[in-house]
Amino acid sequence: MLDCAIIGGGPAGLTAGLYTTRGGLKHVTMYEKGMPGGQITGSSEIENYPGVTGEITGMDLMAPWPEQCMRFGLKHEMVEVTNVTRNAEGIFLIARGDGKTDEALSVIVCTGSTPKRAGFKGEDEFFGRGVSTCATCDGFFYKDKEVAVIGGGDTALEEALYLSKICSKVYLVHRRDKFRAAPNTVERVMNAENIELILDATPDEVYGDTMGVTGLKVALKDGGIRDLAVPGVFVFVGNDVNNAVLKQSDGSFLCAVNDWGQVIVDLSMRTDVPGLFAAGDLRIEAPKQVVCAAGDGAVAALQAIGYVDEKQHG
Ligand code: FAD
Ligand code: NAP
Repeated sequence: MLDCAIIGGGPAGLTAGLYTTRGGLKHVTMYEKGMPGGQITGSSEIENYPGVTGEITGMDLMAPWPEQCMRFGLKHEMVEVTNVTRNAEGIFLIARGDGKTDEALSVIVCTGSTPKRAGFKGEDEFFGRGVSTCATCDGFFYKDKEVAVIGGGDTALEEALYLSKICSKVYLVHRRDKFRAAPNTVERVMNAENIELILDATPDEVYGDTMGVTGLKVALKDGGIRDLAVPGVFVFVGNDVNNAVLKQSDGSFLCAVNDWGQVIVDLSMRTDVPGLFAAGDLRIEAPKQVVCAAGDGAVAALQAIGYVDEKQHG
């Protein structure tokens, strides 16, 4: 029986692994379907992790994290978790992709979320070289430059406003003439002097050179093409929350999630199921930053230690 099962080995999961093991839990396994490190390992540059200065890739940042946890006894299983259930005794059953099932007293789910791609030409080729899905991460690279934002939901408009404070101009490209975003957010966008709306328009092709993006071609309703000479294109067309492990056989979730599938937690990363915690990008109101995911992992771990202690010693 595991004291704690950690699902996902990104910044949240690894930090949860460090704090649970260093905090005294003996049997802790982190399940990660790929190499530990999480989605930041796909970033060519991170410059907002506190205390880490100089040019550093996401891979460089994360490289020492697994070894640090293993020193304190964290076990890593390179396997996908397919499902988590809880039996009548309050024990969690961790169903693994290799057909085995493990038992755990507590679980910390750290499976992250995945931004959707819009599907236009060049989007994948230039991802990380001018195409981004994170304004907080990459906005500063375009300080005093012009950028394009794709999308018409709350995320696109909020991020367009964020970028408008850093960039000289933001082109907001949306495929309809009505926004999904909240009316007050739409109003703030309308009032922003350096945001230009390009409506009824779809991104056609992002192009560039070996250095990265140099422009975005946008297809207009009248059949014309508008060519935006921007070095940065931010895509906010929705997000897939990686909550599949929490799905039960009847289609419900093991714990409460909101309308967008984000796991509802309190400030201690507790879900509404005792012993089940969620940390990082899959939780409600996640700022989707490495430092925040790591902080969540630590908070959840401290709670899991208390929960397991109570279970074992009453
Ligand atoms: P993730 O990092 O997504 O990790 C989740 C892990 O869970 C993954 O490794 C996945 O393989 C694993 N997993 C999922 N499902 C299962 C399963 N069923 N079984 C087993 N394993 C599973 N943040 C910053 O602070 N600064 C930046 O500059 C920055 N730049 C970024 C650039 C890019 C290109 C991207 C993609 C993200 C960037 N971010 C940045 C955001 C940052 O990477 C995330 O906020 C952070 O990684 C979230 O951590 P997490 O642990 O919650 O989830
Ligand atoms: P979203 O609401 O699903 O909006 C996605 C936007 O992208 C839509 O405007 C959509 O256009 C557009 N889009 C989708 N696919 C596209 C494609 N292939 N090419 C071009 N455009 C495309 O996603 P979100 O903005 O990430 O928000 C997700 C949920 O979180 C929403 O319910 C939102 O309200 C919520 N949220 C809330 C807040 C807040 O309350 N402060 C902040 C952020 C997010 P169409 O409109 O034409 O479909």
